Amino acid sequence: MSSTPGSSCDLLIAGGRILDLGAESGVLDDAGIAVHDGVIVGVGPSAEVESLWRATRVIDATGQVISAGFVDAHVHLGAFLDTARPYQPSTGPGLFSGGGRIEVILPMIARMCSMSVPDALVAAVVRPGLVAMLKAGITGVVDAGGPGVGGVVSAAAELGIRVAVGPSLADMWHDEHGRLVRQADADRLLDQARAAIDSYDWAGHGRVRAVVSGVETMGCSDELLAGIAELTAARDVPTHLHSHVSEAAVQAHDAAFGRTATQRLSAAGMLSPRCTLMHAGSLTDDDIAVFAETGVTVNHNPGGNALFGFGITAGRSVPRLLDAGVPVVLGSDTAPSFAVSTPFDMIHAALMLQRDLAGRDDALSLEQALAMATHSGPSLGRPGQLGRVAEGQLADLVLLDTAGPHHLGTDHPVPALALHARTADVAMVIVDGRVVVEHGDLVGVDEAALADSARQARTAIAAHH
Ligand SMILES: [Zn+2]
Repeated sequence: MSSTPGSSCDLLIAGGRILDLGAESGVLDDAGIAVHDGVIVGVGPSAEVESLWRATRVIDATGQVISAGFVDAHVHLGAFLDTARPYQPSTGPGLFSGGGRIEVILPMIARMCSMSVPDALVAAVVRPGLVAMLKAGITGVVDAGGPGVGGVVSAAAELGIRVAVGPSLADMWHDEHGRLVRQADADRLLDQARAAIDSYDWAGHGRVRAVVSGVETMGCSDELLAGIAELTAARDVPTHLHSHVSEAAVQAHDAAFGRTATQRLSAAGMLSPRCTLMHAGSLTDDDIAVFAETGVTVNHNPGGNALFGFGITAGRSVPRLLDAGVPVVLGSDTAPSFAVSTPFDMIHAALMLQRDLAGRDDALSLEQALAMATHSGPSLGRPGQLGRVAEGQLADLVLLDTAGPHHLGTDHPVPALALHARTADVAMVIVDGRVVVEHGDLVGVDEAALADSARQARTAIAAHH
């Protein structure tokens, strides 16, 4: 520890058990953490940290596990606007049904992304979802594309959650005859993306990153892909796109373009350490070798994939990606068709699906699943500063009670978090050094009022769409 005795800091968390998967042992008992200006400035045995730091606020974490904040690396927040529509039992193709047919999905997403709703209404609809995520220990959210970017930014900034969000671009989708045709002007879309970067990157006290998305590799012309690559490199912003989503989507892509998605992305300059490929479940060994070489991150969404019936686990891409050294981050792909996921849901889904498919319970370790749930990839920005409980890291932390009866006396924090923990165990959530959730509730937020304003906004949206 580099400080001299009596240095002042904002927060001192004492007496907890740190779980830091990046550290040698991973666990530090009776540990203390000093936080100043949003950064972890000291970590060590409680007595040592307490003797070195004088804090404005001291938090007693006795009996609690302290973990890096969880990240949901794939949410469509703008899709929450769809909850303005009344529930209809499915009598035909649902949101992603129809066997995952890309010619149904692409036009639907293109329509959704062009929905125009005032920012204030978007913010009102999105806020309760963000509250639910924070209360579950999610400190960072990566928006995978949708309408209402300005509203998402203001809701996230208001509630204090870290977010990556931006316009989701597509210039090709299927017409009424099922033909894949150009339907938008790439230059105009890129101008919109440029404006979004200018408006939102590093907003919300630096907790918002503008991310420029392509909707799906098949929905982007070569010209648009090259434009996104060039823009995101020039402005040094993250980029991501849905790609290699299912076997059927891969076959449809290759038939339409006469080249693989990996070849097109590579030729356009899209594959770089600032890029995350979302879903990416249907992969050849050659695809994986190119991903490893170019430094892309892959986002895996076990719950969403399974509920949407993408059949992604069948390709066993996750263990192959991990073996090749490709970073994998976990998301929910939460959309209105199912509930807001908790990190515990995502971890359980990843473990269950990967292990069942492999027919072995060592196919994915608890540590690997936890690491995937706390790493954000490049999308949230701050490379090397998120995902660990260590000096120099940003203070995005979760404190969990592990004394509940469902913990069955589990002593080690790894199984406690990966197998036993529930949202009700989340006692405190800290984002950027700010206590956002305390005793399980949002600090300074009237949740009933937020729910009311969300209901009113949904009614107003339903009246106009
Ligand atoms: Zn998605």
